[in-house]
Amino acid sequence: HRTGFRDIAPVFVHTNYLINLASSKPELYEKSIEQFVIDLERTETLGAEYLVTHLGSASGQSEDWMIERVAGALNMAMKLHRPKATILLENTAGEKGDVGYTLEQVQEVISRLSPADHIGLCYDTCHGFAAGYDIRTKEGVNNLADKIASTVGLARLKGMHLNDCLKEFNSRVDRHWHIGEGTIGLDGFKLLLNHPAFKEMPKVMETPKKTEEDDPKNMKVVRSLIAKQ
Ligand SMILES: [Zn+2]
Repeated sequence: HRTGFRDIAPVFVHTNYLINLASSKPELYEKSIEQFVIDLERTETLGAEYLVTHLGSASGQSEDWMIERVAGALNMAMKLHRPKATILLENTAGEKGDVGYTLEQVQEVISRLSPADHIGLCYDTCHGFAAGYDIRTKEGVNNLADKIASTVGLARLKGMHLNDCLKEFNSRVDRHWHIGEGTIGLDGFKLLLNHPAFKEMPKVMETPKKTEEDDPKNMKVVRSLIAKQ
């Protein structure tokens, strides 16, 4: 009797923001794995399809060390609880100590996971733009699709976080902004939303919400950018 009790599908759950699967502190690392398992179990209890997680950060550690660390955490979590829901790794903005801000890094993590059949990518447009993936032009959006295809593979892309960016391109600063009012702008979103690789992809907005009008406003902007068939 799962069908019918909700009219939104697929459902994306986000892990607790306190977890850090790349932490260099043993206690925090272990607690993060435990909490991740709890989040995964809750996702499945809810009947949701996806659990989105950031890859974490560890200031002062090398990229390779962090990749091994995150992969170790996810493998341990999957050993403790074999996933039925799909775990989506979200690209990050590349703030200090972050891992997972390039698609190559995300792929390096995925290549170390076993099993990897319940692993996918959730691509955040603001994080990507802050990390150097320019989607303001048609060429840029094509390049992004090609990059995803050549790293994690388009089959693993299961959803997108649709956010404009407050800070400038390649700033490595994670500040979400209203669709069309940030540094990506309306043209970039129009190109992305109508690109064959991204058009049918489920999208979740994580834009600022100060008033009740903010979400409907952003939704209206997004709808206005989608070309009619
Ligand atoms: Zn996001």
